Amino acid sequence: MSIQVLKPKFHVDECLEQIRECLEKGWTGLGFKTVEFEEQWKQFTGHKNAHFLNSATVGLHLAVEILKKENGWEEGDEIITTPITFVSTNHAILYEKLVPRFADIDEYLCLDPIDVEKKINDKTKAVMFVGYGGRVGQLDKIIEICKNHDLKLILDAAHMAGTRVNGVCPGTFEGVDVTVYSYQAVKNLPTADSGMICFENVGNDVICRKLTWLGINKDTYERSSDKGTYKWKYDVDYLGYKDHGNSIMAAIALVQLKYLDEDNIYRRKLAAYYDELFVENDRVQIIKAPYRDECSFHIYEVAVEDRDGLMQALNDADIYAGVHYRDNTEYDMYSYDYGKCPYAHKISQHIITLPLHLGLTMEDIKKIAGVVNVFTK
Ligand SMILES: *Cc1c(COP(=O)(O)O)cnc(C)c1O
Repeated sequence: MSIQVLKPKFHVDECLEQIRECLEKGWTGLGFKTVEFEEQWKQFTGHKNAHFLNSATVGLHLAVEILKKENGWEEGDEIITTPITFVSTNHAILYEKLVPRFADIDEYLCLDPIDVEKKINDKTKAVMFVGYGGRVGQLDKIIEICKNHDLKLILDAAHMAGTRVNGVCPGTFEGVDVTVYSYQAVKNLPTADSGMICFENVGNDVICRKLTWLGINKDTYERSSDKGTYKWKYDVDYLGYKDHGNSIMAAIALVQLKYLDEDNIYRRKLAAYYDELFVENDRVQIIKAPYRDECSFHIYEVAVEDRDGLMQALNDADIYAGVHYRDNTEYDMYSYDYGKCPYAHKISQHIITLPLHLGLTMEDIKKIAGVVNVFTK
């Protein structure tokens, strides 16, 4: 049996039961389960606002677009971001014709506050922080910097479903303006494709809800007395998109959310076992996680000298690893900052993502770690 790097686990019968409700009711679109899931997500996280989307990618774009519009940012203004992320994070900045300004990362593979401060200039408007692998990194220090320099803070929490710090969801920390979660097929709360955007400011949430449905505003006529007759007549306030989520995805999400905490406990148990099996091997660098007992551990990675060789050795044992991520400044569109983040550039050539998912047993972890230890010895 081959071992995949990431593999979702679905509670099939419960998911089908939820989906059946949608089908029987004849309501698979916006509303119904999407509203129910938004309410449950707010309860689970403590966010004041939550809007269900068809992906986190559109959420990151909406976050940048709305903050840009509401704060009068101009084309060419800059957002400080990380080179070690999925390209969605940085594409979201480019969609709005702003400039991703890359800062280096720290030992947790999250933005390094010292380098972030160095990259601030007159054009800087915001910081985009990625909670790498569910880690909170030094988000507290980034919040301080944003406060001191009057910058907005966007949290790409695609990996962070279920992460807490002393019981508190980091997306709700004071000073975080907007948090975006992913429920893509292999994330910690997998659906097929969907996401959530949580604005701190309720006005931004209202704008966002219009933008995700073509800019349509139903308020005026919903409030009028003969709304039945005028249902077809609505205003269109913005050139919006088709970005909202649907009830089939929300139906799956409602079930998966019930198991998120216990799933993450199991992920931490597997991660802790990897750590234990590598701790004696000084050729394997464990990537640390602050508040590790509350981290979602979306992915587990180590750094080794010969990463590509290890990848091959694992493949030969029918074990499939991954790399999260290639330094984004190696891509043409981001190459203007190539060489500006030396630690990120170096570590991205040595990190390897080892299999971590709910289908794995402690025996599997022992087998995978065994291959790593034999290869690096
Ligand atoms: C998966 C991911 C995204 C995009 O999520 P989608 O829901 O697939 O659009 C964004 N940022 C990071 C760091 C991710 O891992």
